[in-house]
Amino acid sequence: MSQTITVKIKLLSTKEQASILKNMSKEYISTINSLVSEMVAEKKSTKKTTKDVPANLPSAVKNQVIKDAKSVFQKAKKSKYTAVSVLKKPVCIWNNQNYSFDFTHISMPIMIDGKTTKTPIRALLVDKDNRNFDLLKHKLGTLRITQKSGKWIAQISVTIPTVERTGLKVMGVDLGLKVPAVAVTGDDKVRFFGNGRQNKYVRRMFKSKRKKLGKLKKLNAIRNLDDKEQRWMKDQDHKISRAIVDFAKENKISVIRLEQLANIRQTARTSRKNEKNLHTWSFYRLSQFIEYKANLVGIKVEYVNPAYTSQTCPKCSARNKAQDRKYKCECGFEKHRDLVGAMNIRYAPVIDGNSQSA
Ligand SMILES: [Zn+2]
Repeated sequence: MSQTITVKIKLLSTKEQASILKNMSKEYISTINSLVSEMVAEKKSTKKTTKDVPANLPSAVKNQVIKDAKSVFQKAKKSKYTAVSVLKKPVCIWNNQNYSFDFTHISMPIMIDGKTTKTPIRALLVDKDNRNFDLLKHKLGTLRITQKSGKWIAQISVTIPTVERTGLKVMGVDLGLKVPAVAVTGDDKVRFFGNGRQNKYVRRMFKSKRKKLGKLKKLNAIRNLDDKEQRWMKDQDHKISRAIVDFAKENKISVIRLEQLANIRQTARTSRKNEKNLHTWSFYRLSQFIEYKANLVGIKVEYVNPAYTSQTCPKCSARNKAQDRKYKCECGFEKHRDLVGAMNIRYAPVIDGNSQSA
C-alpha cells in the first residue's frame, strides 16, 4: 500500500530560463492536444514514437507527451467521444529518470537554441516544519512545471508507503467551534484539543479593532488586520491538526474518521456547525491539515456521513438532542456533547472514495 503526495517547490529561474519554460510548456500542451485530436479522428490510440512527433522538446519530454496524450484519449474513448478534454493551462512534465533535485536546484533537460541541454534551475523548497524535506527522501515521481500567479513552480510527486498495522484501530474526531476538536479512540481514550473560548476572545478582539479602523476608513490597515487574523487562524489549525495526529500516533491508530463536510455553508449537520462566523473559520481546512499530516505517518483518514452523529446515544442508539453542552440519555448515558459526536463518528458509515471534495 502506498499513496502519492505532491510537494511544491518555487523555481527561481533566470529570465531566459523562464521564457524557455514558457515555450516548452505551451508546446507541451499543444502537442498533446493535436495528438489527441488525431487519435479521436481515427478513433484509435496512436502508434507514434518520439521520432514522429515534431515538437521542439527533448525526447524524454516527448515520451511523456505521448503518454499523457494517450491517457487523455482513453478518457475521451470511455466517454464515447462526448467529453474530449483540451488542455489549456501550460504545463511540462518530466518523468523521474530525467531530472534530479538536490534541494537547491532542479536539473532537467530543456531546449536551449534547439538543443536538449540538462540545466540546473535554482529552486526553493518552501518548508515550515521540514515536512517537505522529509517527504522528498521518499521515492520521487514525475516533475511537473507550471505557472501560478505569474511565477514558475515545480510539483514533484512523491510515493510514500502506508504503514500496515495489524487490526484496525479507529479514532473519531469531532470538529467544532466551542471545542475546536475532540478525539476518542476505539478503546475510549479521550482528548480535547484547542481552546474555543480563547479563540472566541481573540476573534472578538480582531472584530472590534476592525470596527474602529472601519470608522476611521483605514482600508489598508483593515486589510493587514484581516491577513493577520487569517494567519492566526491557519496557525491554530496547524497546531490542532499536529496535536491530533500526535495523539493518534501515540495510540497506534490506523484510521482517523472525520465528518464529511460537503460544503461548510450547507452541511447536513445541525445549527452549531452553521453558526454565523463559520465561513471565516473553515472546518474544511482543518480536515485537510489532519488528513495531510496523518497520511505522512501512514494513518488513513476516512470521512463519514454526519447524519445524527450529534444526536445518537453511543450506548443505546436512542436519539436525543443535547441540552447546552451536556448530552443525556434515558439509559443513563451522560457525556459532553462534542464527545458524543466523536464517539459516533468512530463507527458512522464511511463515505465512498474516502476523500473530501472541495
Ligand atoms: Zn442511551
